[in-house]
This record gives sequence, C-alpha cells and structure tokens, in this order.
Amino acid sequence: MVDMNQKSYDFYKNVLGIGPEILKIAKYAEKNIENVITQIDSTKEYNQLKVINALQENNLSDTHFHGTTGYGYDDRGRDVLDSVFAKVFGSEDALVRHNFVSGTHALYVALSGNLRPGDQLLAVTGKPYDTLDEVIGIRGDAYLSLKNCGVEYKQVDLDVVGNFDYNGIKEAISPKTKMIMIQRSKGYSIRPTLTIAEIGKLIHFIKNINSEIIIMVDNCYGEFVEDREPTEVGADIIVGSLIKNPGGGIAQTGGYIAGKNKFVKRAAERLTSPGLGKKVGASLGFNRQFFQGLFFAPHVVAESLKGAVFCAAIMKKLGYKVFPEVDAFRSDIIQAIEFGDERALILFCQGIQKGSPVDSFVRPEPWEMPGYDAKVIMAAGAFTQGSSIELSADAPIKPPYVAYLQGGLVFESVKIGVLKATQMMVTEGIVNI
Ligand SMILES: *Cc1c(COP(=O)(O)O)cnc(C)c1O
Repeated sequence: MVDMNQKSYDFYKNVLGIGPEILKIAKYAEKNIENVITQIDSTKEYNQLKVINALQENNLSDTHFHGTTGYGYDDRGRDVLDSVFAKVFGSEDALVRHNFVSGTHALYVALSGNLRPGDQLLAVTGKPYDTLDEVIGIRGDAYLSLKNCGVEYKQVDLDVVGNFDYNGIKEAISPKTKMIMIQRSKGYSIRPTLTIAEIGKLIHFIKNINSEIIIMVDNCYGEFVEDREPTEVGADIIVGSLIKNPGGGIAQTGGYIAGKNKFVKRAAERLTSPGLGKKVGASLGFNRQFFQGLFFAPHVVAESLKGAVFCAAIMKKLGYKVFPEVDAFRSDIIQAIEFGDERALILFCQGIQKGSPVDSFVRPEPWEMPGYDAKVIMAAGAFTQGSSIELSADAPIKPPYVAYLQGGLVFESVKIGVLKATQMMVTEGIVNI
C-alpha cells in the first residue's frame, strides 16, 4: 500500500470533509498494517496464478462466452466453466450455475441431493447459518425440509473458545451419520473463523472414524482468503455463492458446488432432474461474467481484506474491540467491531454507506426485519443487489452492539466509508481523538 500523496490527502480533507486529526490516524494505521497487507498480497498472487492457470489450461476462448438457449445441450462454455472451477478448487468436478438463486439454494441442493430418508446430517460447527434453519427443519415446517424428508439432524457445538469438540464429535458419529457439515466462516458471530489447516485436521479425524462419511463445507465468504480451499484438505463437497467471493463482484447471480464426481453428479440431478444432471441447462448470457468474475476474484477478495484490516486498525485505535484482531490470521472476509454503544454502532453503519459507489446519499436506519429478534441496520450500496463481496455492514441493534463489515470491490471505497464513519463519531462527540 502506498502512502497517500498530498493530492489524495487534500481530497480527503477538502472534498470528503475528513479532519486532519483523523487523516493522521489513517496514515498511522496504514503504516501499522503494512506487514498484514504484504501477507494479503502474497496470498492473492498465488491464488491469482491458480486462477489464470486454470483458465489457460482449459483453453478459455471467446467462443466459450456465447451461451446456449433452450435445453442447453453441448454448452461448451458451461462445461469449461465447471472444469475451471474444479481445477481452481482442486476438486474432481464442479457445478457452477446461474440457476442457483443464492448460497442457501446451492447448499439445499448439495444437501438434499446427497441425503436419503434414514440418513443423518451432523453439523459439527454449531448451528449452521440462519437461512438453513428451514432447510434442515430446525425451524418452520416446510414440506421439503430435510427433516420432513426423513433426514435426521444432529449438532455438536464448538467449545467456548471456538474450537472443535473432538470428543463430542466422536460420540455423535453413528452408523446413520451420512454427512458431516462444517461451516468455515464465523458468519454473524464473534467466534474465530476456521482455518483451512483446522478444517483439514478435523476431516482427517472424521475420516479415521469412518471414511465413508461425506464431508460438506459451507465455504461462503472463505474463497481465496487463504491459498487453499477445503477440497484441497479432504472435503468431499464445498458450496458457495457467486455474489460473494468467487464471483469477483462481476457475477450478477448464481452459486457453485464443487467436489467429488459422485456428489456433484447427485447435486446436479437434484438441481435439474435424474437422467439430465449436468448435461442440460442453458447458460444464456452468463458464462462470460462468471469467467471474468472468477478471474477478478483473488484480487477483489484481497481488496476487501485490506479494507477489513484497515477498518480493524482504525476502530481499535478508537478504543473498540475488533474480531479478528488487526494482525490475526484470516480465513474469511468478515470483520466484526464491538461498539458497546447503540449510537456509535448506528453512526458506523451510516458512515460505511457513504463509502459506497451506489446509494451513498442514503442514510440507513434500524428497522424491524422479519425473522430477527432485534432491530437491524444494514449499510449497502452495491451494483448487484445484496452482494456482500461489495462493501456492506450490518448489525442487530442489541448489546454488545456488534457491526459486521465485509466486502469492498476496491480498498479506497472501504477507506472512505471507515473515515466517514470516524468523522461522524468525532463530530457527534462519541469518540475523542
Ligand atoms: C451467505 C452465507 C450463506 C448463504 O446465504 P445466501 O444469502 O443464501 O447466499 C450460507 N452460509 C454462510 C456462512 C454465508 O455467509
């Protein structure tokens, strides 16, 4: 990261209204995070090499950008896209489709395609992401929930410091256990995110007990943060959303499933139909944006990580607790900040909004969102609706008043948002600097 030059300094001060004392902190923070930034860049370079090599080895060419219509037979672009994703993730196969309406949908397809009545699904990282409650049947009574299709659900929580409960897992595994689900990202909690090394160790442990158990990793928010993916340490299937990391901010919709042939095939038959599987599905005009999104993804993930680290450094300097710590090893793009104060939390989210390229003039307010037990405030101004590889921050309005920041297609956008938020907190007398 280069020092901000005089022209940029003047721009922040005179055009964006950031006070000199805050800019001084920004300079100090950037100096302080130099080593972390270097680490992010070196991981980025490796991932970028992996992606470019996968595109080249698959002889990506202009013809692959032209989509098919109708049944989508012999869609070369679609098939090459699957093959590129498989190569990048070190897996046998992949299913990358615009037909996945979200990450939740891709997860449901991977789960329901690979689980049969009488099977047991075991979650070993505590309760999965909220949107999976109704999929599994923990909440609600959806006709096609896994529970209503005869799939039993069991859960082992992480221990108090966020580590796997190895004994609990061993005890929970039975002959009925067909699949074990691991959620890589901390999601919206302040437990540490699982590293690939930790996931690898856990998979080894499970496979030693029963090598037949299918290991599925919810990889959302994790892609390209480290230089390996869970499929490279033994996961049988990984699942994610294309409007997060691997879409590079270019993909307008979609999701992916990658892993062993057998499991990807079953998921494909669930997405389309038995007998059809991966062989159908018109790609329409989506291939090009998915290839280009993947091409950009390592770079964009690095930009968002730099933003997260910068934000952590500034907020820590202002006296707030940050998760992960500024120089902690990261395995997802989420940065949590604990404000312990409602006003500070709201101002932070409103400030982040001001860094967005879209809707920067909007002031987000807390609202009663369905399904939440407290009001929620959400800052987002994205080119793709709901995309969280783009700059966004959200927070439930309840103690300890934690905001979750993620994304940012370019570092400067996050920087503006964080500095604007800081300025607002200083102007309102909430922080003294
Ligand atoms: C985003 C996310 C999902 C899926 O959410 P969608 O909004 O349906 O894409 C699942 N798990 C985790 C950990 C996530 O971050």
